[in-house]
Order: sequence, then C-alpha cells, then structure tokens
Amino acid sequence: MPAATSSLPLHQQYAAEFPTSAKLAERGRQLFPDGVTHDSRALNPFPVYIDRALGSKKYDRDGHEIIDYWMGHGALLLGHSHPAIVDAVQRQVPLSTHPGACHELEIEWGEWVRRLTRCGERVRFVNSGTEATLMALRISRIVTGRRKVLKFEGHFHGWHDLLIPAADPPYGTGEYGMPGITPNVLSDLVVIPPNDLAALEQAIDEHQPACVILEGTGGHWSLVPMRGEFLRGVRELTERKGVLLIFDEVITGFRVHPSGSQGHYGITPDLTTLAKILAGGLPGGALAGKAEYMCALESKNRWGQKMKHPGTYNGNPLSAAAGVAALAEVAKGDLCRQANEMGQRLRTGLNEVFARTGVNWCAYGEFSMVTVVPEYDGPRPDRDDFIPYNNDVARLDRKIDPKLTHAFRCAALLNGLDFFGWRAMLSGVHTAADIDQTVAAMERVVALVRAEGLVT
Ligand code: PMP
Repeated sequence: MPAATSSLPLHQQYAAEFPTSAKLAERGRQLFPDGVTHDSRALNPFPVYIDRALGSKKYDRDGHEIIDYWMGHGALLLGHSHPAIVDAVQRQVPLSTHPGACHELEIEWGEWVRRLTRCGERVRFVNSGTEATLMALRISRIVTGRRKVLKFEGHFHGWHDLLIPAADPPYGTGEYGMPGITPNVLSDLVVIPPNDLAALEQAIDEHQPACVILEGTGGHWSLVPMRGEFLRGVRELTERKGVLLIFDEVITGFRVHPSGSQGHYGITPDLTTLAKILAGGLPGGALAGKAEYMCALESKNRWGQKMKHPGTYNGNPLSAAAGVAALAEVAKGDLCRQANEMGQRLRTGLNEVFARTGVNWCAYGEFSMVTVVPEYDGPRPDRDDFIPYNNDVARLDRKIDPKLTHAFRCAALLNGLDFFGWRAMLSGVHTAADIDQTVAAMERVVALVRAEGLVT
C-alpha cells in the first residue's frame, strides 16, 4: 500500500507515489482523447496504470497493492483472475478463439442464462450491454408497432443514441439534447422521474411507448434506489397497458442475486439485458426474453420480416467459456451472499469513520453496491436500508464539487483504495479483512482531504 504520510500537498504526494504511471500517461495522452479508453478512467494529472490483478486486489506499475472497488466495471463478481475463469479460457484458446460457426459452449452459456433468469426463454448473445439494450428497444418496436421508448431520469443503459440522454444530471428540464444526437432521435424518447407510478401511468397514456426500460435496482446501480413495491407496480402497469418491460440487468444480473434483481424481487420482465458478470470478465452481452417477443429475430415470425442481427463476435467461445465458468459459480449462491454481506460491512464501517471524524459524508446503498454522498446535511443512517434525502433524485444524483471528488479519488489511491468515484462495487472474494483495511484507510483519506481544506 502507498505510504501516504507525507505533509506535502495531495497532488505532490500523488505524483511522487506513482512515477511510472505519470510516464505512461504521457504516451497515452498523445494517443487517446483525454488519454483514456473509457471516459470514467480519466484522472488528472494522470490515472494509475495497472500491471496485474488477483482476487480483490490490483497492483500498479509502481508496485502498490490496491484494494479494488471497480471490479472490472462490475464484471468481476468472482474477483480478478479467478482460477475457474483462467482455467476455462486457457483450455479454450488452443481449441478455437473464433470458429465463425455454431459451437457447444454457446449452448451451455445460453442454457445458464435461461436457468438463472426468470424471463430468459430465448437468448441472443451480443458483445456489450450497449448492444443488448439497443436490441431490446428494436424488438419492442417490432412487437408493439410503436415508436417511443420510456426511461427514467438517471438510468444508464449504455451509450447509443436513444438511451444515453438523461443518464446524467441535471434532470427535470425536459431538455436532454447532447452533442451528436439528433432532435428526431430525442423525439422518440420519453423521460420521467423514478419511483412515481402516477407519473408513469400518465406518460404511458400520453405517449403510448413500445417499452419501459429500467435498471433493476434503480438509476446508476442504486444511486437512486428503486425497490420491490415500485418495481411490482411498474410490472402491473406495463402488463395492463400492453407495454414491454425491459429490466436492464447489465450490472445487477447475477450480482444482487443469482437471478438478478428480477429474482430478488420475484418479478418477470418481458426482456432482460445482460453483460459484465454474464461473460466472466471477458467481453460479452446478451438479450434474454420471452419466446413470444424474441421470435422477432426468427426468420419466420408473425411480423412477416425478421429483425436483422449480425455481429462478428456474437457468442465468442472465449467469452462463452468464461461465462459458463462464472455462471456455474454464481449459481451456487455464495458469491452473491458474500458480496452483499461485505457491502453491508463496508457501509457500516464507513459511516462509523465518518461519524468519528466528523466529516459530512454518508455511506448508503444496497446489495454489493456502496455510495458515499459527500456534502451531506441530512439525518445519519440508522439502518442498512437507509436512503439519504428520502430518495430524492435531484439530491442524490447531482454534480459534486469536482475538486472534492478529485481529492477523494487521489487520496483513496494514495491509501491503497481504488474507489469508483464516490462509489464501490464489491465482489464475492472481498474479505472482512479487506473491508476492515479499507475502513482504517478511509480515516486517513478523510484526513488528507481535510488537509486540502476541502472539508471541515
Ligand atoms: N446498462 C447498464 C445498467 C450499465 O451499467 C452499463 C455499463 N456500465 C450498460 C448498460 C452498458 O454496458 P457496456 O458498457 O457493456 O456497453
């Protein structure tokens, strides 16, 4: 772990601690916009470059051990380089990396998806969550003959044109224009606030959408939680109104429960989008859904024309091998249980540190997902299912002072923690010792951020 004991300003400590990353970032900046290959990996003056990773830890190019709370953007419920995944991929590489043909592993993979999800009677593999939501929308339109799509403020469903608008604040303006996205596309999108069934019913009646899409535990993986009562209300309403319900389980699928949020809450959507844990840490995605809708992809269907769906890497055998190995482990239930327990332990421990150090931060979340809300002025949590600000989307999903966010991230890295912004995603291999080490380190993180004059 980096020894962040110096009295130097934070940025000088950071530069001194990660010199190899600084050099690599100079090369990256000449090549990649913002120096990175994913927007959220950008960090000033440079991000930390990782050499290898194992279990719950990453090791950077300067040799620090870092407890990882990104976990492959949520893909690694089994942790980094789990032996079952390594073995499955190594066995497959010499056999074939891309037969461009049908193969048995894709069937095994699909059978796991069908077994684990509630609505996955039929499955089509794609290469990412973005592709899965794109496919779900198009099928909804074919099936219903309608044009519009309804989503909730702050729900992220990938970066394609129709669903990236309204993924980030500010909300409630009705103005979700973005560079490169045409007004025609925007006119097909209906955005409403989360957790308001009356608003949903009104919007469905007014706009007659083809589908309602939502993240199964609420926007940005429980930043603004959506829970059972509301989700059951959405299911009842969409069924009654003939609108398809899509659960986007790209993050929650196989994480919150072996059957995702649909399994946890006992709700059967019409279509489910999957990626991340699905492919065991390799690239991959899928749409799983009721046969009566998925048959839009079949050559002979009741709409007279099939939905076209090519894709060079669909059902890739390396992803399939990793996916089969991952889902077989997930099905046992222990990984989800351990990740969820560690999530709770981390929330509790962080809140104790925040209370002890008197900083105005608060940890909340659910399952294996943890959020720290800074600049917090509400009541302190008294239960693990506590949601700050009464679940108000405008207060929970807002822009935070970028200087504070930056200092938190750098201070965390200096103390051996890779937080996902203000958030953490756990795996089933994080241990109580990892969490206790994190909580102890957080005390030093608070001190560092305080020394910068960014919190009182
Ligand atoms: N849906 C959700 C809920 C996601 O969180 C993400 C990515 N974080 C996506 C879709 C897009 O997935 P991908 O990055 O694989 O395209």
